[in-house]
Amino acid sequence: MGKEKQRNESFYDSSYFELLEAMKENTCPVCFLIKKSELSFMDTLFYELVNDPGVREKLRKSYGFCPRHATLAKEVGKPLGIAIIYEDICSILREKIEKGAEISYPGKGCPVCRFSDEVEERYISIFLKNFPEKDFQNLYQQSFGLCMQHFLVICSRLAREEEKEIFKQCQLHTLQEHLFQLQEFIRKHDYRFFYEGFGGESTSWKKVVDKIVGNKDETGEKK
Ligand SMILES: [Zn+2]
Ligand SMILES: [Zn+2]
Repeated sequence: MGKEKQRNESFYDSSYFELLEAMKENTCPVCFLIKKSELSFMDTLFYELVNDPGVREKLRKSYGFCPRHATLAKEVGKPLGIAIIYEDICSILREKIEKGAEISYPGKGCPVCRFSDEVEERYISIFLKNFPEKDFQNLYQQSFGLCMQHFLVICSRLAREEEKEIFKQCQLHTLQEHLFQLQEFIRKHDYRFFYEGFGGESTSWKKVVDKIVGNKDETGEKK
């Protein structure tokens, strides 16, 4: 009965469907959803900046974004919005230095980090809750799988040994596939095999980086 209830809850949870959809992408689904959510959060943030004093207050307190999200802001934010945020911050910092007041590191308590952590936890929880389901496992087995970072987090939180074993086997299988593609890519750089030309392995060097470190830091703008 408990299982049925769990399934029903999942059924109506839109985040669950977002996770299923993300598994069709050729990348870590958790990283993909974090990146997607951060981009829309940034959009809203720059939109509300003009009308919502709360947003500016939060950014004042943290002295703006952390380094990672400052980079993202420069890539996808609005120049005028960034100028307004940092004009505030510059004048507060000037005053604090003049007064000899204590100053925390800029970006500590970054509002995008807080949001991003919540998003990450939400999708990790959904993954953990649904992994015991066979349909979910099948879908996961056919996907890119998780990056190593999210693999390790989820592995440490999977309670049952059998599920942990299946989960590890999925990761082994995808790593093996990356290894094969990389070896092909390297082999074909040998002048003796150059004539063979490159196929699917031509992007293996990029995909493996996503697999090992994740790709939530990419905005997709440069692709
Ligand atoms: Zn990831
Ligand atoms: Zn941040």
